[in-house]
Parts: sequence; C-alpha cells; structure tokens
Amino acid sequence: MTRGDVAAIGECMVELSPRPGGLYGLGFGGDTLNTSIYLARLGVAVDYLTALGDDPFSQDMLSAWAAEGVGTGAVRRKPGRLPGLYLIQTDGAGERRFHYWRDQAPARELFADSGSPDLSGYRWIYLSGISLSLYGEAGRKRLYGALDAARAAGARVAFDLNYRPRGWPSASAAAEAVDAMLSRCDLAMPSLDDASALYGISEAGDLLRRFRSLGPEEVVLKQGPAAAMLAWGETVVEVPATAVAAVVDTTAAGDSFNAGYLAARLAGASAMDAASAGHRLAASVIGFPGAIIPRAAMPAAP
Ligand code: ADP
Repeated sequence: MTRGDVAAIGECMVELSPRPGGLYGLGFGGDTLNTSIYLARLGVAVDYLTALGDDPFSQDMLSAWAAEGVGTGAVRRKPGRLPGLYLIQTDGAGERRFHYWRDQAPARELFADSGSPDLSGYRWIYLSGISLSLYGEAGRKRLYGALDAARAAGARVAFDLNYRPRGWPSASAAAEAVDAMLSRCDLAMPSLDDASALYGISEAGDLLRRFRSLGPEEVVLKQGPAAAMLAWGETVVEVPATAVAAVVDTTAAGDSFNAGYLAARLAGASAMDAASAGHRLAASVIGFPGAIIPRAAMPAAP
C-alpha cells in the first residue's frame, strides 16, 4: 500500500509562553511536529504519528495540524488522558528556561505492547532523538522492529539527533539508543552542538566519520550560521548557510532545515541543493519569533 510521502514520529505538547503582565499564552510545540508543518507547507504529504488524549487541548492540536495540511489519520487517542505540557520562563537577560509536565503523556506509549503503528507504505520515516527518548527501552525495541520492517519494504529513515540530556537517564543510555537508531537510518541530520554533546567529539570531520561508520549512507551536519557539511560515499562537501542580518529566535532552525532538505530530496534534488533549500527555510524561520512563521514568510521556491 502506498501512503503519504513521510511519516513523522514524535510528541507535540501544550506550550505556555510568557506574555506581558505576567500572563501566559497557550500554544503547542514539538520538534518533529515543527518539521511536519514545514514539510506540509512545502507540499509534502506527511502524517504525524503520535498519541493524544480526548480532551479539548488534544482536539485543538489536531485541528491546528489539519489546518496546516498535516495528516492526522494515524494519531491515536487515549480516553481520559492529557497531552504533555511545557512552560517557558524568561529571565531578566532574556534567557529561556523550559519546565515540563510530560511524564504521563500518551505519546510515550505509542510503541507500548498493545500494537505499534504501521509504518509500511511511506517513502520516508522521520524522527528525532527526542522521539527516541519518549519510549523507554522496550518501546524503542518495538520502534526499531517497525523501522526495520518498513526499510525492508523500501522505506527510508531520516533521523535528527536533537539530543536533550534531560530526556535520558544518562548520556551512555542515550548514546546506546542513538547508535542502535543509526544502524537503521539512511539519512542522519545532526547539529554539531548536539553531536558534540553526545559523543564528546568537537571536530566536524570526526563526527561525520563516526556517524557514517554507524550506518547512514547520507549525513548532514548542521553548524548554525556556518556551512552545513554533507557526507555520502567518499564525498564530503560544505554548503554555506544563508546570511541572516538579524536573528530574532533560533527556535526550530534545525527542524525547519530538515523539512527543507527532505522536501527537496523527495522532489529529486541533489544533497547539495537540498542543503541550500534547508538553509533558505531555516534563515526565514529564525527571522521570526517562535517555531512556526507566518505562511507569507515562507521562502519562494527557487
Ligand atoms: P539546531 O537548531 O538543530 O541546533 P543549528 O543551530 O545548527 O541546528 O541550525 C540549523 C540550521 O539553521 C543551520 O544549518 C542554518 O541553516 C540555520 N541557522 C541557524 N543559525 C543561523 C544563523 N545565525 N544564521 C544563518 N543560519 C542559521
């Protein structure tokens, strides 16, 4: 069966962010969801695979995703449950701190024993290290089994490291899970910062080699304002980032880069052209506050 182009796996949470006067605004956010929204805006048929409750906040999320063109047919609903929540606190210097209530979120049970989602029929499956951190060891085993089956049937797997230490019991537990993930991954899209933090390697060339040695045929190493490094086969190339005069908020820079890259690859672009497309979208995204920019601010197709 052929389904959408991409299945994105992860968690979206309710977001409370500060407003003037000590108030908080209600929104929602999650790394893989950000990528899904940008993929949909770029014309890619994407399904978001997660689990929510049957409460009004879950319903609002579903409606918002559907309005963005993200496929919600594969979302599971757990009666009586609530989605995870995080609150953003900004200190006097503008530094943001995140506080989470997410341990009981239904998204964490997506790969619990009652039956993993069916990943067959998608061209690409996209997930991140944050997705991996949700499921625990037993759940990850089921996820890996589902990925292996999908790859055997022709799907490809793209993975952004998005290493967040607080989601893991230890760095070594994270590295073990990520290594197992990379062995069933076709395209790895880590950022230099995350990869250095996880593996304790700061040199980009060494990191590319490390990632390649674990399995992925194609590796894209994002380096903030510096060029992204791409490696496949024996080739290593650099693709300069788009210059941004005034960076407003780097939230979702990597998530949007990934969407631009994947959408271009799906449309048949070379890895280098795909990286340029990723940079272009990320450059627009960091010029606005928040993860999701107005539709009118999306870069024009080249
Ligand atoms: P992440 O957001 O996942 O930590 P990076 O910080 O490496 O990843 O940024 C991802 C992408 O966002 C970069 O490859 C680049 O395209 C874009 N980007 C991030 N910061 C800047 C910047 N200051 N100027 C231009 N582009 C940037």
